[in-house]
Amino acid sequence: MSDPIAELVSLLSRLPGIGERTAQRLAYHVLGSSSEYAEALGHSLAEIHARVRRCERCGNYTAETLCAICSDPRREESLLCVVARPPDVAALERGAAFRGRYYVLHALLAPLDGVGPEALDLQPLVERAERSELKEVIIATPLSVEGEATALYVAQQLRPAGVRCTRIASGLPHGGELEFTDQITLARALEGRKEV
Ligand SMILES: [Zn+2]
Repeated sequence: MSDPIAELVSLLSRLPGIGERTAQRLAYHVLGSSSEYAEALGHSLAEIHARVRRCERCGNYTAETLCAICSDPRREESLLCVVARPPDVAALERGAAFRGRYYVLHALLAPLDGVGPEALDLQPLVERAERSELKEVIIATPLSVEGEATALYVAQQLRPAGVRCTRIASGLPHGGELEFTDQITLARALEGRKEV
């Protein structure tokens, strides 16, 4: 017979940063909470894939056709920040230092692992650049080998259309994951960006 607690512990322990013991603590916590809470949690988990999709303009996660940032008229349209993943947008938004818009790649070039340019959907971006809708594109991919290769490629694709391409400054922690960088460091990295 299956053990529902062991099953929940096993599922929870597959989440990043959650070891066996934390998974156990969480499982017992849910069990000790009201059944309404457990049901709401389960419902939310069950629906997340159906309710969330990619913003048609920037690729960030949203429940609407356009995300809140793309539909905000106060955000500067001609200043764009290219990031690797949706949590990077969340990280940059926490600092509230950036007033432009975003473009989420959902991938990084990794030639050694066989991930080439076809993994990046840059066409909408190139078209916007060719229509002169973009003044500056800040490339905020991680400061890793993959992130740097991707940054160079993005700049190569956009520069012919006359877009100023800049790269966030170094000074980010090793690997340069935006998600784990504090607000002040992120604001400095944006401020100190350099031409690519
Ligand atoms: Zn968007």
